[in-house]
Amino acid sequence: MIPASFDYSSPKTLSEAISLLQQHGADAKILSGGQSLIPLMKLRMAAPKHVVDINGIDGLAYIKESGGFLTIGALTREADVDASQLVHDRYPLLADTAGVIGDPLVRNLATVAGNLAHADPANDHPATMLALGASVVATGPKGARTIAISDFFTGIFTTTLAPDEILTEIRVPMPQAGSGGAYLKVERKVGDFAAAAVAVQITLDGGSFTSAGIGLTNVGPMPIKATRAEKALVGKPAVESTIVEAARIAAEEADPAEDLRGSVDYKRSLVRVLTARALRLAITRAKGEH
Ligand SMILES: Cc1cc2nc3c(=O)[nH]c(=O)nc-3n(C[C@H](O)[C@H](O)[C@H](O)COP(=O)(O)OP(=O)(O)OC[C@H]3O[C@@H](n4cnc5c(N)ncnc54)[C@H](O)[C@@H]3O)c2cc1C
Repeated sequence: MIPASFDYSSPKTLSEAISLLQQHGADAKILSGGQSLIPLMKLRMAAPKHVVDINGIDGLAYIKESGGFLTIGALTREADVDASQLVHDRYPLLADTAGVIGDPLVRNLATVAGNLAHADPANDHPATMLALGASVVATGPKGARTIAISDFFTGIFTTTLAPDEILTEIRVPMPQAGSGGAYLKVERKVGDFAAAAVAVQITLDGGSFTSAGIGLTNVGPMPIKATRAEKALVGKPAVESTIVEAARIAAEEADPAEDLRGSVDYKRSLVRVLTARALRLAITRAKGEH
């Protein structure tokens, strides 16, 4: 299908992009990788009158550790995350996630920032960032503000970003010693969105969990932070009975709807099994055994 007609701008600076967003308000849409926006425009489910393509702005593509965080710039592609040795060595949950977004063609263009800003509960990064306790930087006419990811999503396809703000950076806290993470996803075929997926990030000290983050993908109208399951882990020994109980609680916290990807019971069951498996893998990684 062919999109409705629209005007197109390719600003060269952030301030130019923000001015365009201010000028066009709710009629404007930012274009990053275009992997969600363009299909929606072709289907005419989105018909922005003005597209602000930020790909010409220098300095927005980076992955680096700085000030206690892994910082990811707005124009960092999934393929760059997947190719980053730093990410594979220190942020395996993030590496797992980038590696299962769509297919290689999608990953070459899609950005992590676009994945979050799109706020599709089927997208994979929201749950991962919830588990990692990340934050995002939104830059607008009044400057930059930092938003905890747990406050970022407000509903299906909606976030706290104002129409004239650009998500410019993602900040993931640097892991403490004894940390590990994993993302496990069940999809009907390679490249599909998840029937269900689970993100886990844990820290171990003396064989017990000292912190735990669990995020659930595509089993509710918004990405879910499984806070009760997290609480069931902290302070407990990293043994099978603790894992099984946390996985049971995570399945309770899921709120799936029946669709072509499966029934409510099937999806809850996936959450239970994937949470347990992701915890076991995260523990192995935290111990440096994987
Ligand atoms: C075939 C296919 C398979 C896919 N499979 C998956 C999958 O398995 N898992 C998954 O998570 N996703 C999947 N997707 C969706 C897509 O990959 C993500 O939503 C993508 O990461 C969006 O990023 P983008 O840079 O392409 O954003 P765009 O499409 O450019 O933008 C998406 C939305 O976010 C806004 N936006 C973009 N960047 C910013 C920014 N910096 N600041 C503020 N707003 C911004 C845009 O205005 C738009 O509303 C798939 C897409 C396709 C086409």
